[in-house]
Amino acid sequence: MFIAVDDTDSREGMCTTFLATELIREFDDFDLLDYPRLVRLNPNVPWKTRGNGAIVITIGYGKRKNRKIGNLQGEVYIHEEDTEIPKKREFLERVKRKVEQWAELDNDNTNPGLIIADERPSERFYRKAVRDVVDFEMVQKELDRGSYLYKGYDDRRGLVGALSALAWRPGDFTYELLTYRKKDRWGKERELNEKDIINMDGALKKAFDNYDHEEKEQAIAPNSPCPVLYGVRGEDPDELKQALKMIDGEKPERWLIFLTNQATDDHIQEKKISEASPWTSAKIGGKVISEPRIIEGGHILFEMEDVTGKITAAAYEPTKGFREVVKKLISGDKIELWGGIRKDPKTLNIEKMRILGLEEKVEKVSNPECPDCGKRMSSMGTNAGYRCKRCRTKAKEKEAERKKIERGLEETCYEVPVSARRHLSKPLTRDNTCRSTSRRSS
Ligand code: ATP
Repeated sequence: MFIAVDDTDSREGMCTTFLATELIREFDDFDLLDYPRLVRLNPNVPWKTRGNGAIVITIGYGKRKNRKIGNLQGEVYIHEEDTEIPKKREFLERVKRKVEQWAELDNDNTNPGLIIADERPSERFYRKAVRDVVDFEMVQKELDRGSYLYKGYDDRRGLVGALSALAWRPGDFTYELLTYRKKDRWGKERELNEKDIINMDGALKKAFDNYDHEEKEQAIAPNSPCPVLYGVRGEDPDELKQALKMIDGEKPERWLIFLTNQATDDHIQEKKISEASPWTSAKIGGKVISEPRIIEGGHILFEMEDVTGKITAAAYEPTKGFREVVKKLISGDKIELWGGIRKDPKTLNIEKMRILGLEEKVEKVSNPECPDCGKRMSSMGTNAGYRCKRCRTKAKEKEAERKKIERGLEETCYEVPVSARRHLSKPLTRDNTCRSTSRRSS
């Protein structure tokens, strides 16, 4: 039996993952049969609160305990599934009560949705929701067609995220260990020691994106007043548990490991420029056709083209050191960009970049020598060639002596720093397309 929930939080508080912990506690008369799932959806939808995440838990009757995945003031285990299946009806009122207890229902932008299901909808719902904007009608049709029990609050938009998260089949996946604060600490400053986080990041070999070595800042604790103390991301759920012992300071009240689609690039589709529509994400190959320019606020923009058209690409100020890489591009460079497409003006917000071919950059060192007298010739004006004042011999512009300028770039991949990374972006450490030659932005 699956319980999916979305859109319970606001910028002022709560976190839908916290509700997952509350639901697991509520249903302690049943067993957990799988990791709770934290499913990130399209990072470009305009109405997301922060990371556009929805949660799914799988409960039922289990046979025997398999693996410990949390402690919610009581140990949490995944169980091997038994043949007996619970009845959905038993769940609805209890889930509703929990959502109504914890969701920020007074907030205009919080529109919770909850779904109870005994089977997953088609994966196409997930694919559409992680890459594009989903029409509510499509979701309503599926809810009417299937044997779901559901409830949407306010404008019911949360049902989109809940159904789409339920539809996720993990192809690529990672884990996140989330820890939560005691209620009387919510909204107060988090007391964590940066040194512990650096040590933990070095010690856990399968963990990633937990410390920003370029910006020298921790990336595990949020800044918001939500119940999360910190979250550690990685590929090995057992290794993640070691973080609990390595991070001192404020003690979490509960912890839970989620299976997630974070760091998978599931949001990215290969596209031509003309096909890249606003609010989606794309991987686009093309040629740089303008020198990068800095605009107010420290953002860097340049134009690129492919056979279907042109697009502006942007490395915004929060991408910090990555902008130094982008600044070094010149017209003629062949690149591939991963990123979200903004509507107005149509802009690709760069998450990752692969340099496929670097244009040669040359600088004039001196005017050509006169073949007759050996003296340096004089310029006849911009791009007008050269003439020897004494012998009157002429030379073309291209005959001037030039030297190759070091570009300071390599034909490899570059990515924005951890602090500016999308939850869904696959870091280069996990990305096979770039793995052998990857370079960070500094
Ligand atoms: P947090 O990550 O902090 O839990 P959030 O960023 O997930 O918060 P939500 O509060 O869940 O933000 O708001 C996102 C809203 O957008 C939800 O109502 C969700 O159903 C809806 N939504 C998500 N993806 C899509 C999509 N691709 N198309 C249409 N609606 C979507």
